[in-house]
Amino acid sequence: MQPKKHIVHLPVYQPGKPVEEVKRELGLTEVIKLASNENPFGCSDKAKEAIVAELANTSIYPDGASVSLTAEAAARLGVETNQIIFGAGSDDVILMLARAFFVPGDETIMADQTFAQYKHNAEIENATIIEVPLNDGKHDLPAMLAAVTDRTKIIWICNPNNPTGTIVTHDELEQFLRQVPPSVLVVLDEAYCEYVYDEEFPLGLELLKSYKNLVLLRTFSKIYGLAALRVGYGIGHPEVISLINLVREPFNTSRFGQAAARAALTDEEFVARCHELNKQGIAYVTGELERLDLSYFPAHGNFVMFDTKHPSAQVFDGLLKRGIISRAKWSKYPTHIRITIGSREQNERFIAALEQVLQELAVQV
Ligand SMILES: *Cc1c(COP(=O)(O)O)cnc(C)c1O
Repeated sequence: MQPKKHIVHLPVYQPGKPVEEVKRELGLTEVIKLASNENPFGCSDKAKEAIVAELANTSIYPDGASVSLTAEAAARLGVETNQIIFGAGSDDVILMLARAFFVPGDETIMADQTFAQYKHNAEIENATIIEVPLNDGKHDLPAMLAAVTDRTKIIWICNPNNPTGTIVTHDELEQFLRQVPPSVLVVLDEAYCEYVYDEEFPLGLELLKSYKNLVLLRTFSKIYGLAALRVGYGIGHPEVISLINLVREPFNTSRFGQAAARAALTDEEFVARCHELNKQGIAYVTGELERLDLSYFPAHGNFVMFDTKHPSAQVFDGLLKRGIISRAKWSKYPTHIRITIGSREQNERFIAALEQVLQELAVQV
């Protein structure tokens, strides 16, 4: 068999370890997954009711273009319906962007430690990846701008950045956008925007009005707690959205996903509660990290990346033995781990386990 030559070396995505697998392998009864930035509070009850109600229509194909969901999301965001495209998670929108825009030899610019799907999908299309080092965990926009050539097609900015959690500010982003050639797409991935409370966070929807080459990515997988149902979307200029729509699979979102997302949009109280509890969780976890004398990147999403001062695999294994699944092994940050903010009880259990692990490792040294 002869696959495309440039895909055979691609890494297979390594998801956070599933809870059931860890229970089985380590013989534990209680395991907390803080590895994939999932919502520890689940999803809105209204979304659950909508999913159950939709069961009656299981044999019927979904509305391929997500018309109702698009209309409701557009109204809430204050954009036109032709400015939105839905995908099976924002992962699917990233895939569609790559599929619609890249031809072999195109260049694409991204941070050297950011969400893996930008690179993965660009590689499948045989685009040339230009990775610009994060500066103190933060996107270096001037360096990204300096990397633009006449072959550049897409620049990816993850804000807050996964895995570091840092943000670029509105002013920094606007100054950057003013200088990017209008022929280059700028994709601003705002998967965690509903968690942010920093006043300098960019108003992406405002910037869309001035920059036709800007596309925002949003998702129902994080604060809305619907990761299993795969619903995410892109927001941009109608011309860009219609180009992406050309490569969309006919039924790329499910009936359950659409119904749950529509209901979730109406439950503002659930989102506000998760935002507030996450804010308290960040304050608690970062306070404890300071007490333990561990440094961390400014955390603007629902996760914190911190320096354990030990090889991260050792801390990861130590936490795992104590029933905490974290995320480690970032090539640029060999002593850091990333942890999702959980419920108060989960956060406390994580800190207690971390203290034990660090004590154990200190004795070994
Ligand atoms: C989780 C995440 C996504 C995508 O999630 P979907 O479930 O595919 O919507 C996109 N970007 C970033 C940065 C993420 O962390």
